[in-house]
Amino acid sequence: MATTLRKSLETIEDYKINSPQYADLLDILAEILILREGYRQSIKHPIFSVEEKLIQGKMAGGLPLIDMSGKKYDLTRPREYFYALVAIAEKRVPLEGHKLFDIVHDKLFDWEKITLASFNPVPDEDEIISSDLREPKDDEEQLDLIDLFIEESLRPELEVIAEKYGPAIEKSDWSEGYCPVCGKEPKIGEIREGEDGRRYLFCHQCGYKWRFRQIKCPFCGNEEQHSLAYFAVEGEESRRVDVCNKCRRYIKIVELSDPAEEVNLDVEDIATLHLDMLAYEEGYD
Ligand SMILES: [Zn+2]
Ligand SMILES: [Zn+2]
Repeated sequence: MATTLRKSLETIEDYKINSPQYADLLDILAEILILREGYRQSIKHPIFSVEEKLIQGKMAGGLPLIDMSGKKYDLTRPREYFYALVAIAEKRVPLEGHKLFDIVHDKLFDWEKITLASFNPVPDEDEIISSDLREPKDDEEQLDLIDLFIEESLRPELEVIAEKYGPAIEKSDWSEGYCPVCGKEPKIGEIREGEDGRRYLFCHQCGYKWRFRQIKCPFCGNEEQHSLAYFAVEGEESRRVDVCNKCRRYIKIVELSDPAEEVNLDVEDIATLHLDMLAYEEGYD
């Protein structure tokens, strides 16, 4: 595990050289990964558990393994982790970090409510963070740190589940566009050239990666080739944006020409923020 962390931190340093404009965010990510690892190491009693006999049924029915609606979990630890993540931002990017501090310490801000809502997407989590608490998107290059931290806050605990039950999930034929472990929608994925161009989607909330059809929108299920497209930036063709002209959503995809190649999608997601900006500009969400 420590080797994985070391490798990830090395990857981040490499990316900082090629994408200096994202150095601050990549530094934040490096600190997140260190904190995440510490959390992982300290888990003695995981918060989440799965009844093994229910797995195949859940997978067949399109139900993620972890569902926050039915059970009451003690989320003290993830909540503390969330506030520790905010402290990283305050240290690394003081201006942005202070704004963030004010938002998350406002009495209207309810971490647990927002987190639970992300599992049951109605009402929309944007409506829960009241609109006057949200910063207008004036700086388009800015990553929404709150969203990043909220997603990250459950990551150590959900990773335990993803790693333990990943093999069982692979045996099922999960064909949904949302995560089979936690139900979150993906923002990024990868395509492996050597394996008939298999596309995998990645979940930031639990770190799970699952196989998904190439010619299909993960968000609305559209399979009509003529309304599915992609674009890339010149000189950077190995990263592309898959878009659906039916629901106007998009996902970033990293193309790997060598099937043995490993890519860290946490790092890639930050290093490809300019693609998010392009997608927004083109009217995709
Ligand atoms: Zn997930
Ligand atoms: Zn769609």
